[in-house]
Amino acid sequence: MKYFFTLVAIAALFTSCIQTEAKEQKADPGIDTANYSGPIIDMHIHGFTDNPGFSDLLGQDMPPRPGMEGLTPHSAPASFEAVKKETFAQFKKHNIVKAMTSPGVDWHNEAPDKIIIGSGIGIPVEELRVRHQRGQLHVLGEVAPNYQGILPTDARLEPYFDLAYELDIPVGYHLFPGGPQGGAYGPYPMTRASQGKPLQLEEILLKRPSMKLYIMHAAWPYLEDLKALMYAHPQVYVELGVICWNLPRKEFHNYLKGLIDAGFGKRIMYGSDQMIWPSTIADGIEAVNTADFLTMEQKEDIFYNNAAGFLELSEEEIKAHKALK
Ligand SMILES: [Zn+2]
Repeated sequence: MKYFFTLVAIAALFTSCIQTEAKEQKADPGIDTANYSGPIIDMHIHGFTDNPGFSDLLGQDMPPRPGMEGLTPHSAPASFEAVKKETFAQFKKHNIVKAMTSPGVDWHNEAPDKIIIGSGIGIPVEELRVRHQRGQLHVLGEVAPNYQGILPTDARLEPYFDLAYELDIPVGYHLFPGGPQGGAYGPYPMTRASQGKPLQLEEILLKRPSMKLYIMHAAWPYLEDLKALMYAHPQVYVELGVICWNLPRKEFHNYLKGLIDAGFGKRIMYGSDQMIWPSTIADGIEAVNTADFLTMEQKEDIFYNNAAGFLELSEEEIKAHKALK
């Protein structure tokens, strides 16, 4: 008899293990490997009309990237005008309804509904103020002073943060990565990887609590530091430019999953950081779509909803975008 009860107990335990396993498998019903097909907001694009740093690379394949061997290289069109044309074609193909473009005035003239005009800080504060008055400044970004070896805490940046705070426009701040691997030994001698840590932004945020700040490239690879910053400062958002196409896919997914698992899925925005290689836009979109840990709702948040909220788009505009196919 005792033996019988033991058998029953073992059977019950085994059954309950199977049920638990079945329940656990069912616990992720939303995971969706399908591609998102709704509207997209790209929070990081460049609209160069001239840029000596990129002129020599026009008309060529992207230089080889360590860790990305075996992939078809992205190719740069032969002129900045052709880059613009092909980028606009990508916007159409992927239903990109808004693009934060820096510099963006020239592109905005062609597509005022689509282009959000960004500007870096290589321009005096008073001139930026005048541009804002003229409707030619919507986002202070890409702010990337670490190419000159300048930290976010440098006193020279204070007037720019104050301006964005006063005008109530978002700041797009570049931390890391920047340029190709080993850039400090080549075109970017002043950059230092150690300058890319997100927690440097704390006092800047505390001094201007309503400032809308998003971190470009999601500050890769400083995931732990970024989680601390996002936990402590719930107003901080990130975008995925460059890391969505310039990292091995697995590393990008690991990084994105780290942010999702930490509960920050409502503060991650899509960005490509398209410079002169328009096909990076499609590559970056695919990288998010193939993240097999994302639900379709999370993809929709990353591609559109989070940025629409961050940019405070009107309900009518959101409705109009969502009606576009
Ligand atoms: Zn950029």
